[in-house]
Amino acid sequence: MEMTDCTKASLLLIYTGGTIGMKQDPSDMTLKPFNFGQILEEVPELSKFAYRIDSFSFDPIIDSSDIEPESWKELATLIYEKYDEYDGFIVLHGTDTMSYSASALSFMLEGLTKPVIFTGSQLPIGVPRTDGKENLISAVEIAAAKDADGHARVPEVCICFDNMLMRGNRTTKVNADNFRAFRSENLPPLAEAGIYIRYNDGLIRKPADWDRKPVLHLDLDTRVSILKIHPGITPQVVENILCGKETRAVIIETYGSGNAPSRPWFIELIGKAVRMGKILVNVTQCLAGSVNMDIYANGKTLKKAGVASGYDSTTESALAKLFHLMGKTQDNGKVTEMLDADLCGEISK
Ligand code: ASP
Repeated sequence: MEMTDCTKASLLLIYTGGTIGMKQDPSDMTLKPFNFGQILEEVPELSKFAYRIDSFSFDPIIDSSDIEPESWKELATLIYEKYDEYDGFIVLHGTDTMSYSASALSFMLEGLTKPVIFTGSQLPIGVPRTDGKENLISAVEIAAAKDADGHARVPEVCICFDNMLMRGNRTTKVNADNFRAFRSENLPPLAEAGIYIRYNDGLIRKPADWDRKPVLHLDLDTRVSILKIHPGITPQVVENILCGKETRAVIIETYGSGNAPSRPWFIELIGKAVRMGKILVNVTQCLAGSVNMDIYANGKTLKKAGVASGYDSTTESALAKLFHLMGKTQDNGKVTEMLDADLCGEISK
């Protein structure tokens, strides 16, 4: 039986909002957020761990459909400021945009040496059949886990959901109803919780320097649009999205391995956007697999026109990567160059 002594672990539980932190008010049967200072009362199982668990609640707490880059900055800054005080961080977050937030944090906290584990639930924690307790308990155990050298077992930004620990920037929300809300199709889970938590150590990223504090990146440029290709898409719609004055980069969600229409008007508009200096990134609409613009003529045309490959990136991660890279430099050519690198495990190359 695999055991690590984490009895001294200290963790910070950050509540941003979402279903997990709600409980039913018996007076009117509506869902209301509970006071997070009382988390141990709501989930008494946590005290069995004998960890020190402090909590911090966003004010106001938000439905994650209201998450904005400002919230990511608040979250990343909080983790950065409290970094030396804790062994790991758990972020309770609504499921709707959890993949976006986890992706963003993975770029904003460069060189992590401690776990940042996002979790939430499909049913509120106060409901008898809730998935929230299990998700939270697994997240807590993983955030406290250390290896034989005393280093964090998973020094990454992850999502822990339905017994799976996934690299955050590889996830997508795929189900609005059942407990398996997230998938990481292009990367196997970093850990699976059954009777034991089985870590996939070969996949878990390790920092170059365990003693260095992460670099905090707060500059985000959000001038990104997403163009989802579909049969019947019109030149006007494509032009509005590709060549919009306010847009600095466009994620083109293509078919299959990165294919788009070969019609002359479409290629001309791609060329126009490139001449305007827009950053164009090709990400597949498929849940699994990668863009490869060398397979089909339709893909090759995009490559020749100057569209960058998003490889096997999720759209959520490509968006966060663009926000981050565009925040670093005003040079669009440089951004396109940097997009090609795997910064924190977000693409396979
Ligand atoms: N709308 C909620 C949210 O994302 C759903 C959830 O928490 O699962 O905040």
